[in-house]
Amino acid sequence: MNQPVDSKPGRYWHALEDGRVQCDVCPRYCKLHEGQRGLCFVRARQDDQIVLTTYGRSSGFCIDPIEKKPLNHFLPGTPVLSFGTAGCNLTCKFCQNWDISKAQDFDRVQDAASPQKIAEAAVRSGCRSVAFTYNDPVIFLEYAVDVAQACRDRGIKTVAVSAGYISPEPRTEFFQHMDAANIDLKGFSEGFYKNLCSGRLAPVLETLEYLKHETNVWFEITTLLIPGENDSPAEIEAESAWVMDRLGPDVPLHFTAFHPDWKLTDRPPTPPQTLREARRIATNAGLRYVYTGNVNDPAGQTTYCHCCGAVLVGRDWYDITAWHLSADGRCTKCGTPCHGVFEAAAGRWGPRRQPVRLRALEAGLSAP
Ligand code: SF4
Repeated sequence: MNQPVDSKPGRYWHALEDGRVQCDVCPRYCKLHEGQRGLCFVRARQDDQIVLTTYGRSSGFCIDPIEKKPLNHFLPGTPVLSFGTAGCNLTCKFCQNWDISKAQDFDRVQDAASPQKIAEAAVRSGCRSVAFTYNDPVIFLEYAVDVAQACRDRGIKTVAVSAGYISPEPRTEFFQHMDAANIDLKGFSEGFYKNLCSGRLAPVLETLEYLKHETNVWFEITTLLIPGENDSPAEIEAESAWVMDRLGPDVPLHFTAFHPDWKLTDRPPTPPQTLREARRIATNAGLRYVYTGNVNDPAGQTTYCHCCGAVLVGRDWYDITAWHLSADGRCTKCGTPCHGVFEAAAGRWGPRRQPVRLRALEAGLSAP
């Protein structure tokens, strides 16, 4: 079979004795006959090798506030050029981006975008970083790594928004090119992962420990709380205790609100009180930076000094309303460092979400 234009040889696979070829990118280890695609749909067997079929294609670009990823301790207030491709390696019934992640229609991946063009667009549009988001970048690893390298060449940082469902060897390559990550910890039981995502919890926990102990990637964790599925106080206590014990108190943890979507439409939206209670539990467990998301809760979105309790970064949705950090990231009241990647002042992007077409952006930006 000839490779389509957008196919690129994959790096992590091996041939099996029974004639199939196994993809080794994620713990699903799809075993494929010629012409078959993996569960993620974007990696396929062609000419006896595994290829990525969406290299250089995107499902759209948008300039977002970095807080929307969510990252509260990574260049607050700055704009991030965000994009995704198509497909996903988990099958979450509650997917909040299902039109992209479940896409098997390549009309979804319209914008042709070379790594260099993406980096250039980020520079010219004033973005400080590029985010791989909307669907999981693990499945388009070769493309994400090339984009990240092009970004680093231009002084642009890179952000992975991922479920962390990746095998050890590709994980090393993938994260060595990333500056920051938000890892979706979808629940804290194997049952949740099995029943709602057809995946496993253990590899995600391994990724979190790997990031903490073997990389310099700044990362934060997000858990979407779904009523009746993963929002019990016992489960939140267990998750918080694990984060405290294995990762320490300084990894920010976001509890965000679910809204009924995709195949999970029979559950109500998460009550704000559930999020506030989760934040209370995690804070009591010793975590220093715990946030609520997808609800109007300025107190739950503000960063406080863990030593003196002063407001360090005030937020109202995606607006920065207060900034009390010194140029080297310390509390201006008591001098205690706040963990994260900060500059002397907050960015001024605000809450805007600005969709962009790369071609139009290029044309407009190259105009005199
Ligand atoms: S990346 Fe895709 S093809 Fe590879 S193992 Fe995971 S789901 Fe299967």
